[in-house]
Amino acid sequence: MSAEQVRTIPILDLEPEIDELRPEIMAAIGRVLDRTDFIMGEDVHLFEQEVAAYLGVKHAIGVNSGTDALVIALRALGIGPGDEVITTPFTFFATAESISMVGAKPVFVDIDPATLNLNPELIEAAITPATRALMPVHLYGNPVDMTRIMEIAHKHGLKVVEDCAQSFGARWQGQQTGTMGDFGAYSFFPSKNLGAYGDGGLLATNDDALADTARMLRVHGSRKKYHNETVGYNSRLDTLQAAILRVKLPHIEKWNAHRRKVARQYNEGLKGLVGIVTPELTDGHAFHQYTIRVQNGRRDELQQKLAEQGIGTMVYYPIPQDELPIYKGQYPTYEHSRLAAKEALSLPIGHVIPMGTVEAVIRALKAMLKT
Ligand SMILES: *Cc1c(COP(=O)(O)O)cnc(C)c1O
Repeated sequence: MSAEQVRTIPILDLEPEIDELRPEIMAAIGRVLDRTDFIMGEDVHLFEQEVAAYLGVKHAIGVNSGTDALVIALRALGIGPGDEVITTPFTFFATAESISMVGAKPVFVDIDPATLNLNPELIEAAITPATRALMPVHLYGNPVDMTRIMEIAHKHGLKVVEDCAQSFGARWQGQQTGTMGDFGAYSFFPSKNLGAYGDGGLLATNDDALADTARMLRVHGSRKKYHNETVGYNSRLDTLQAAILRVKLPHIEKWNAHRRKVARQYNEGLKGLVGIVTPELTDGHAFHQYTIRVQNGRRDELQQKLAEQGIGTMVYYPIPQDELPIYKGQYPTYEHSRLAAKEALSLPIGHVIPMGTVEAVIRALKAMLKT
């Protein structure tokens, strides 16, 4: 075995970024320790202002996780038992889970195989008198057609919550994802495009009243301390995480540009390989994941072979939401989603991954697919 074959390439390597930013991060953490304002401290307020300016949105509200952001958005919109929310079956469970958590019913529509995002053209047939909202997911950082989503929402009087957990910094026709619907819900889970060093999340909205309700819900349903109005959540963004995110936010445009460069390199390198479908490159794509489709039932075998060469890959996601044990038997089959779950394979990507590493993955894949 050559040296290259035994070298390990993880699907995501956070170490180079931490090494680069360590002095600034340590200083930011030190300032929080000096102030001891651990809950809703100065950095939370400053981060909310800075991220609102970056996204071009009126209100940014820090919360404890992306999942909580989705739940609080639905609660603020008054969605609960008896209501239906239309979303994609091909996503992380937190999307459908948030809908179930507020007592509403997730209704799935199949994906468009070209984008792996929910197909807007299937939404209208799924609308019933109980439908209250649409929850598009910008999967892998690829923006959903928000023009169509908003058209359909307006026509039918529906609310829109954008799941932007994977799309921080992605844009649809020049506009930030998460700023077109009633709410954008973001996650700062460490592996996301803008990641904290722990859990964190954010809500974005242009609506003053919705922002006020969301802020009330994140602190035990109280606008005024000890005057609780409703059952809310203990879901604040930690000051320490906000301080870390403030160091990282100014780098996001450069980092997402690097992700697009990596995606372009992969697409070039994998062009013409039989049985491999590469993703579309669009300007606004944030490439949280670079995900190919491996056809003809060869995905698992290819993943295994790559692992033997020390190349880490992941399947996002192996089971569509409607087939998870919690929902099994309650939904029809969504053919494109089911096939995507069998074919999707995410390759190593990150905002500081060296281009030489990308080349090594391409070479390994080419060698395997020739045999
Ligand atoms: C990560 C993720 C979430 C949940 O975010 P957390 O911060 O982990 O709670 C929700 N939806 C999607 C699509 C995600 O990828």
